Amino acid sequence: MSLNNIDVVVIGGGVAGLSAAISFKRRGLSVLLLEQDNEFGKRIKGEVIDNAAKIFEKVFNQKGLPESVSRIVYKSAKYYTPSTKKFAHRLLPSGDKIGIEYRELIDELLSIAIKEGVQIKLKAEVMELIERDDKIIGLKYQELSEKSEIFPKLIISAIGLHTKLNVPADLKNPKNICPAIKIVAENLNIPDPHELEFFLLDIPAVIWIFPKLHNRAELGATVWLDSDQYNLKSILDNAAKTHPILRKRLDRGQYIYYADEILAFGGPVKKTYKPNLFVIGDAMGHVGAVGGSGIVSSMTIGYDLGELLGKILQDEGKLQPADFEEAQKLVNNSPIGKWLKKEQSSAKAMREILYKPPKSPQEIDVMWDKFKGFIEGR
Ligand SMILES: Cc1cc2nc3c(=O)[nH]c(=O)nc-3n(C[C@H](O)[C@H](O)[C@H](O)COP(=O)(O)OP(=O)(O)OC[C@H]3O[C@@H](n4cnc5c(N)ncnc54)[C@H](O)[C@@H]3O)c2cc1C
Repeated sequence: MSLNNIDVVVIGGGVAGLSAAISFKRRGLSVLLLEQDNEFGKRIKGEVIDNAAKIFEKVFNQKGLPESVSRIVYKSAKYYTPSTKKFAHRLLPSGDKIGIEYRELIDELLSIAIKEGVQIKLKAEVMELIERDDKIIGLKYQELSEKSEIFPKLIISAIGLHTKLNVPADLKNPKNICPAIKIVAENLNIPDPHELEFFLLDIPAVIWIFPKLHNRAELGATVWLDSDQYNLKSILDNAAKTHPILRKRLDRGQYIYYADEILAFGGPVKKTYKPNLFVIGDAMGHVGAVGGSGIVSSMTIGYDLGELLGKILQDEGKLQPADFEEAQKLVNNSPIGKWLKKEQSSAKAMREILYKPPKSPQEIDVMWDKFKGFIEGR
C-alpha cells in the first residue's frame, strides 16, 4: 500500500473515526485509517440509539440502519429511586429507540469504508503527533514492530478514551471522566424486553439493564464522580445480592462480556482542533452527559467535518487556520453540539438535586416528586 499522497489520516476505528473516514473519502480524498487493536469493534460500546437520526440516512443512504444490524425496539424506560419505592415511567412512543449489536454497526461502517476506498491498517498504533511551528504536520505510528511516519494534509483523531496517545498540550481533555462497566449478560429475569431500566443508587451512581435479543441484556453501571472513591465492580456485586429489584433480575444471569469502561460526563470540549488536526468523538466529550447517544453524536460530528473540511481540501488543496475555526463553529453550533451542551447542564442539575449534599434514600424520594416530571417529559 503506497502511503504517498494520503490526504487525510484518521486515527481510531470506532464509530467516530469510521464515519469521518467515509465522509472524507466521499469528497474524493485519499484516506488512511489507523486502528491500534487487532480487530475493529473489540470493545463493545453503546448499543441504544435513535434510529431516526439523520446521520444514518447520510452514511447508509437510507432511513435508519441497514436491516443487517439486528435490533430490538424499546417502548418505555423506567427509572427507580434508591429505595425503589418511587419511579418515573417514560414512554418512548415513536418506535425509533432501538437496541442494536454494536459490532454489527461497526461491521457495516467498515464494509462501506472499504467498498468506497478507505485504506485501513490494523494493529497500527499512533505513538506521537509531529508538531512544527505550532501546527500538527504529521504522525508517527507503529504497525506490528515497524515504525513509520506520515505527513497528510489533515489528521482526524478519533481515539476515544482508552488510548496512550495524548491530544496536543493546548487542547483540553473532557471533564468528568467517570468509570463505567459494560456487561453483556444472558439469562437475566427481565419482565419486559421492550423496557429500559435504570436503578439509581444512594451514592451518585446508576445501574442499568437494557434488554437485547436472544435472551441477553446489557448490564451497565457508572458513578458520576471523577474519582476512585468507589469500586464500581463491588457496588454492582453488592447490588446483585442486596438490591430489592436487581437481586431478582440478576439471580440466574451469566456474564458473557465484561469490560471496565469510561464515560465523559462533562460535556463537549469547546476547542477540539489545532491545525492540521481535529479531534472528535469520546476523546472530546462528544457523548450525551446522561450516558448514551455517543454513537449518533460522534458519527454526526465526524461526518459533518468530512462534508465541510473535505470539500475545502478538495477545492483548495490545503486547509487554512480559518477553515478549522469555521469547522469548530459548525460543530459547536450544530443541533448535536447544542444538544450535547444542554444534556450536560440538565444532567448536572439532576445530579445536584438528587445527590448534593448527600441524601438518604428517603430524602431522595422526597426530591423525586419534583423531578419525576422532568424525566418523564424528556
Ligand atoms: C458503558 C457504555 C455505554 C454506552 N451506552 C451508549 C448507548 O447506549 N448509546 C450511545 O449512543 N452511546 C453509548 N455510549 C457511548 C458510545 O459508545 C461512545 O460515545 C462511542 O462509541 C464513541 O466512539 P468513538 O469512535 O469516539 O470512540 P471509541 O469507540 O472508543 O473508538 C476509538 C478507537 O480508537 C482506537 N485508538 C485509540 N488510540 C489509538 C491510537 N493511538 N492509534 C490507533 N488507534 C487508536 C481504539 O482502539 C478504538 O478502536 C456508551 C459508552 C459506554 C462506555
